[in-house]
Amino acid sequence: MSFCIAIDGPAAAGKGTISKAVAKHFGFAHLDTGLLYRATGAKTFEGLTPIEAAESLTAKDLERDDLRSGDAGQAASRVAAVPEVRAALVDFQQAFARREGGAVLDGRDIGTVICPDAEVKLYVIASDEVRATRRHKELVAKGEDISLEAVLEDLRERDERDAARATAPLKPADDATVIDTTEMSIDEAVAQVIALIEARRG
Ligand code: C5P
Repeated sequence: MSFCIAIDGPAAAGKGTISKAVAKHFGFAHLDTGLLYRATGAKTFEGLTPIEAAESLTAKDLERDDLRSGDAGQAASRVAAVPEVRAALVDFQQAFARREGGAVLDGRDIGTVICPDAEVKLYVIASDEVRATRRHKELVAKGEDISLEAVLEDLRERDERDAARATAPLKPADDATVIDTTEMSIDEAVAQVIALIEARRG
């Protein structure tokens, strides 16, 4: 039986951490769809066009160790605005969403485009300052030398581009439940989401 949990929202709102914890709790598979766009963006550093990069994407490309960098995030958000890039990545995501045993996908357009009939749709948000502080901590822990202000600017720039694009823009599905994690610890956010999913599963 398939069961799809769609978790969307702006950058660094807590989607990734919540998705991983939820997938572990229910024994579902998890796909961080941002990685597909990051890997596509990173391939353009080597001279491929965004469309060539998306169409030639393999599992190995997802293992690059530079995918979490700020540069890969910006490149991801630029290639993600190209409709042909998005089209090249749809089949893989839709097959993943409907795999046997349940799936959690996190991204920007899971509840609106990839899995509009998802059993559970969440839209995770947090204030810009809280999101920037969380992402800054992560990047510094990985050894990146970047200021909090630069991280905040990067998040806002990406969110604006993601929300303004014509194809699959960043926005909540009409039937998504909005979870604001600004004032929550990660444990509180995860507990709230698990309770909500359990209620839906009956
Ligand atoms: O989630 P993450 O920050 O890794 O995503 C990187 C970029 O990939 C986003 O800024 C967005 O432009 C793009 N993306 C997207 N659709 C998704 C997931 C990510 O457009 N489903």
